Amino acid sequence: MDAVEPGDPCRDCGACCQTLRVSFYHGELDTQPNGFVPADLAVQLGPFRACMKGTQWGGGRCLALTEDKRCSIYEHRPTPCRDFPAIVDGALNPKCLELRKSCGIRQENPG
Ligand code: SF4
Ligand code: SF4
Repeated sequence: MDAVEPGDPCRDCGACCQTLRVSFYHGELDTQPNGFVPADLAVQLGPFRACMKGTQWGGGRCLALTEDKRCSIYEHRPTPCRDFPAIVDGALNPKCLELRKSCGIRQENPG
């Protein structure tokens, strides 16, 4: 999910945050040295992996996603959220279109 500002494709979307399994290296948890992701919003998957709560089974909603489709921990979100691009080659990421469709969210590209 990118920054949510006027005209941003992530505004009123959040499809990735309620569809994908968001797992990451557990060193990103704020219980670890230099970690930053709130550990109370994550579950440990194994010795070295953590996952945002709610997404661990796939198809579930991340606990950090607010009712108005914003990331409540935007500055502290894990790497997969930072790396997932909403825009690819100047257009909405085709994966976003696919995810939006599965969530019943508008399909158009941002203008
Ligand atoms: S699915 Fe794409 S457009 Fe929607 S919130 Fe995620 S990154 Fe943004
Ligand atoms: S941490 Fe934020 S950006 Fe990442 S899946 Fe959860 S709500 Fe979305």
